[in-house]
Amino acid sequence: MTSAFCSELETRLLRYVEIETASDAASATVPSSTGQLALLRMLASELRTLGAHAVHVAANGFLYATLPATIRANAPRVALLAHVDTAAGVGSGPVKPRIHRAYAGAPILFPDDELLLLLPELCPALGEKLGHDLVTASGGALLGADDKAGIAILMTLAHHLLAHPELPHGELRLCFTSDEEIGTGIHHIDLARLAADVAYTLDGGAVGEISYENFCADNATITITSKPGRVSALDLAAQIRAALPHAAHPPEMTEARAGFLLFTGQEGTATACTLHYIARDFEEEALAAYGQQVAAVCARVQARAPHARITCTFTPQARNMRDRLMQDMRPVHLACEAMQALGITPHSPPICGGVDGSHLTALGVPTPNLFTGMQNIHSPLEWISVQDMALAVAVLVALVQRWAQERA
Ligand SMILES: [Zn+2]
Repeated sequence: MTSAFCSELETRLLRYVEIETASDAASATVPSSTGQLALLRMLASELRTLGAHAVHVAANGFLYATLPATIRANAPRVALLAHVDTAAGVGSGPVKPRIHRAYAGAPILFPDDELLLLLPELCPALGEKLGHDLVTASGGALLGADDKAGIAILMTLAHHLLAHPELPHGELRLCFTSDEEIGTGIHHIDLARLAADVAYTLDGGAVGEISYENFCADNATITITSKPGRVSALDLAAQIRAALPHAAHPPEMTEARAGFLLFTGQEGTATACTLHYIARDFEEEALAAYGQQVAAVCARVQARAPHARITCTFTPQARNMRDRLMQDMRPVHLACEAMQALGITPHSPPICGGVDGSHLTALGVPTPNLFTGMQNIHSPLEWISVQDMALAVAVLVALVQRWAQERA
């Protein structure tokens, strides 16, 4: 059954990656880049042609659409989401996707960057895809399967379900979001328009992934002002930095569950400067402990510097969606059942990035993250198997039918 989806998935992925949609953290516009709106409008037109209902593109970078229910019963409304933006900062120029048909295990070369090489020896997942059709970029711009694979999967699903009204499912809501990579887009979602009881993001990696745990995240901003000639704000900043962890990169995820406090930047002068930190942990108590550590160091330095004023503020960014999902694990259990029915073994790695699902979950719409097949994301070595994407479509076809048997 899944092979029927492959050629459509491949065609869609190639068409979508050619539209440049990198999000831009420095932009003041919403969405942060015009290419995202261009892709959203193209998807809207395709969805109307497929027969989707209530297709709407909001100017702030969201597409909403409905696949009408094929059953009379009052099943929960399930939303399926993917993001149109891609990560910035990898390569440049237009994406030139390449197909590696019926992959036979040889090294994969990148014609636009001879230093790049993909080898099964260095990337074991690649060695498991013998016979698959793989897609990579050419070594210039980022492929952007994250998350255009998610988009292609949902568009192929929409086509299939609209063409097969005999498949029982409740009302489904499709939602394509923007600016996920810079963490700002989801704050503009219109929950009333989404109108979903439960949701899934199609933004995960290897086949079988269903993630429902993510880092709790806070940002800390420390501001120091000082009287000219009395004490240098930069000296006080140095004292604070010396007393807090020094790393400028997240620690290696050797222990996938280890949290961290990380210095991310400093700006200012001898009379006024600002320090930025981020704190991440799966447990809220541990996150709070990082906050207390920062506050204690600031208080200590402040006590020795009466001619300065040091303030620190914490801005919550995300909370672990596990705590909300534990109240009703149906979204996870039904997805696991759908995978197992297809012979796929589900696994649930915690998510270290990706805040769309945790934000929606915090707003009351439980939103685990499902696999798309994407590998080596945010890297010029990104690749994806078309057959893995087809498995994701098959899982969704099985999943929406399981939800049809539940009651809202
Ligand atoms: Zn993503």
